[in-house]
Amino acid sequence: MAVKMEKGSVSIDAENIMPVIKRWLYSDKDIFLREVVSNACDAITKFRMLHQDTDEEMSVLITVDKEKKEIRIDDTGIGMTADEVRRYINQVAFSSAAEFMKQFAENEDKNAHDIIGHFGLGFYSVFMVSSKVEIDSLSCEEGAEAVHWVSEDGMSFEMGDGKRETHGTTITLHISEEEKEFLELFRVREILERYCGYMAYPVMLFDANAKPVEREVPVDGEKNEDGTEKTEKIMEDPKPSQINDTDPLWLKKPSECTDEEYKAFYQKVFHDYTDPLFWIHLNVDYPFNLKGILYFPRLREDFGVREGEIKLFSGQVFVADNIKEIIPEFLLLLRGVIDCPDIPLNVSRSFLQNDGYVKKISSHITKKVSDKLTSLFNTARKDYENYWKDIHPFVKYGCITDSKFYDSVKDVLLFRLTDDTYKTLEEYRKDNSEKTQNKLYYTSSAQRQAGSVALYTQRGIDVAILDFPEIDASFLNFLEFHQGSGEDNMKFVRVDADVAGLTEESEEGKDLDADKLQELFRKALGQEKLEVKLESMASTDLISLVTEDEQMRRFRDAYRMKDMPATYTLVLNRRNETVQALSRRDPEDEMTRTLCCQIYDLALMAAQPLNADQITAFLTRSQRLVSLLAKA
Ligand code: ADP
Repeated sequence: MAVKMEKGSVSIDAENIMPVIKRWLYSDKDIFLREVVSNACDAITKFRMLHQDTDEEMSVLITVDKEKKEIRIDDTGIGMTADEVRRYINQVAFSSAAEFMKQFAENEDKNAHDIIGHFGLGFYSVFMVSSKVEIDSLSCEEGAEAVHWVSEDGMSFEMGDGKRETHGTTITLHISEEEKEFLELFRVREILERYCGYMAYPVMLFDANAKPVEREVPVDGEKNEDGTEKTEKIMEDPKPSQINDTDPLWLKKPSECTDEEYKAFYQKVFHDYTDPLFWIHLNVDYPFNLKGILYFPRLREDFGVREGEIKLFSGQVFVADNIKEIIPEFLLLLRGVIDCPDIPLNVSRSFLQNDGYVKKISSHITKKVSDKLTSLFNTARKDYENYWKDIHPFVKYGCITDSKFYDSVKDVLLFRLTDDTYKTLEEYRKDNSEKTQNKLYYTSSAQRQAGSVALYTQRGIDVAILDFPEIDASFLNFLEFHQGSGEDNMKFVRVDADVAGLTEESEEGKDLDADKLQELFRKALGQEKLEVKLESMASTDLISLVTEDEQMRRFRDAYRMKDMPATYTLVLNRRNETVQALSRRDPEDEMTRTLCCQIYDLALMAAQPLNADQITAFLTRSQRLVSLLAKA
């Protein structure tokens, strides 16, 4: 006997190691397959390093045998000698489990997540689903002897002669009764696709219980009487099917990838049949190794709740989705794959949070994104403008959450105007400064505020559309704060918040009495507190408009205080003839009051749609006025 029969166990004080491991180490049982299949791939890599001239086909075969209640993972890798099993499995895997338990017991008050990151317990995870685990291995070393190892509980084992005849390793998992879901082929396939979909060697799945299938094949060179190809029925044995793509797009050189390939890859990975807008291919070798593709998806209506999807890989092995510690939070709205081979498979989140290396990766990714936006702005402005409506929430969110990102994109932030053109803040300032003095006029709904918008656009003042409430409100506050201090700071003013941009110096109507008019309107409308102002507006046709203080309105919106009524100011145009005529009328006259109500409603309507009561009153009053006019 070449390998002396031996038994052993790892001293683990804790009675019940598995419940603890299950709870803390692998909350997700599915990963046992990832661990063994990635070990198998590593074993193949090691073999190929030693035998670079080999033309052997290398693959990992996963056989699901529901009848025998087994899953077998078979590789053609480097294999292990008895001594290596002793060292790597008994000592490393088992004793790190023991060490983990020890630390866990000592640190019970501490968060277990702080310690689990440091244990390489990959192989051990198979005990989560198995009642017995066997290893059959033959090392590729000259003259090596096959070894067989078996353990039922992950704490004691037996080792002896093995029967394997070709180099490599077979791990046989006897799936325990409670975990029999893992004997379902579709379940295994699903796990393999998720975790092993891009591993470096072919990962083959085979159903040991599948029956031969009948297939019709053409008979070589023979034809039927009617000239069609002659076929015959044969029974075909089931074959393993390949799960993975060993050559994922992100590992290729960006210069060798076509747009079609990027789009097809996006479709395949994210099952989204709308093309992404554009993408960034990350390809860094130094000072860290980082590969990946980030896609900018089209915005969907349900943006408010939608998360992106960034898949993290470590050397082609899937680790997890949406790891915030590596991907800056705002980038989680994108979709993509990131491959950092230097990140361990079983990482704890707190390990990542405190890791300087991870921080560097994260800021590198952020920089690549801002570089891409800037270069699109500079070299393909029209395209960039077209993308803007899809990417703006993400860019704005990025600015708010990451000041470095804001600094690098602040000059390429766009504002869409009501005429469907786009300007940066600087361009807006340059084009409008004469009339607006460092104010940017915007509308939160071009439709509802159409009347107010028109007052500005008719004067040749640009109005920006900021109608994405989830982000625009905070974005405005943010921009006002972060432009740096100084006179030049742009202020954001909604079209119905002031009239500064619409006024013009003039002597007309200077003698009107504001107090008297205020009194008149207060009485007519029954609004004791209504504020009425006289202004000299650029357009003499305009009778009046209403404004609501910008800050008050933002406050109300921010706290969603629906019950807090808006306080409007009524601004009367002293240059307007109607206003002048009104001031000369008898305040006690019924018609004077009717006119006041009508003027107020007209002003209100320009800023927003009237509510049901208001519209009813307005219509009744208008009909009365029209019939009076008809009879006059
Ligand atoms: P890790 O993979 O993190 O090192 P594991 O517990 O998964 O930890 O595996 C322990 C060791 O056992 C591996 O590093 C490797 O040396 C050895 N090993 C595991 N599976 C195989 C295999 N299929 N072929 C060869 N060696 C293996």
